[in-house]
Amino acid sequence: MTITLPDLPYDKAALEPHISSRTMDFHHGKHHNAYVTNLNKLIAETDLAGKTLEDIIKATVNDADKTGIFNNAAQVWNHTFYWQSMKPNGGGVPSGDIAEKIIADFGSHDNFISEFKTAGLTQFGSGWAWLVLKNNKLEIMKTTNADTPIAHGIMPLLTVDVWEHAYYLDYQNGRGNYLDSFFNNLINWDFVNSNLA
Ligand code: MN
Repeated sequence: MTITLPDLPYDKAALEPHISSRTMDFHHGKHHNAYVTNLNKLIAETDLAGKTLEDIIKATVNDADKTGIFNNAAQVWNHTFYWQSMKPNGGGVPSGDIAEKIIADFGSHDNFISEFKTAGLTQFGSGWAWLVLKNNKLEIMKTTNADTPIAHGIMPLLTVDVWEHAYYLDYQNGRGNYLDSFFNNLINWDFVNSNLA
């Protein structure tokens, strides 16, 4: 069994004008694909070959000799979760259980957005911003490079990629504008509600 690159859950042009098909060609077709290819090379003929992505991540997270495997495995997982975190005509204020939980745990939707945006903007260099469920409470989290909540037993509900490759073609250095598009037009709240359930 090898790790495979999952298809995007929508057409590569479906998130335009917020994320271009050109960004998708590079981000899914080149970056995400390269993590898959590298991971399969690194685990070939080791005791990790044949294991699930989640098991590979958990088995390598604190192993300094396996940093390359962890980084590629976590990046494969994170990107698959990121594609699912978005949909055409998404974003805005959610409905369902997540809406009530955001009010309960952040005070207001605006406070939630403000805290999430700050996490994305202040992640120095490459990384990810997350909405996670920890001790049954919503929290905002940021991770560096490939690091991922699932490596630390924390349940992610939503993520945004803040590596420059996620937004540079469409927004150049405007990470804040990219995050605003994510909040206003892209978040797949159905996915977040299903993760919460
Ligand atoms: Mn990325």
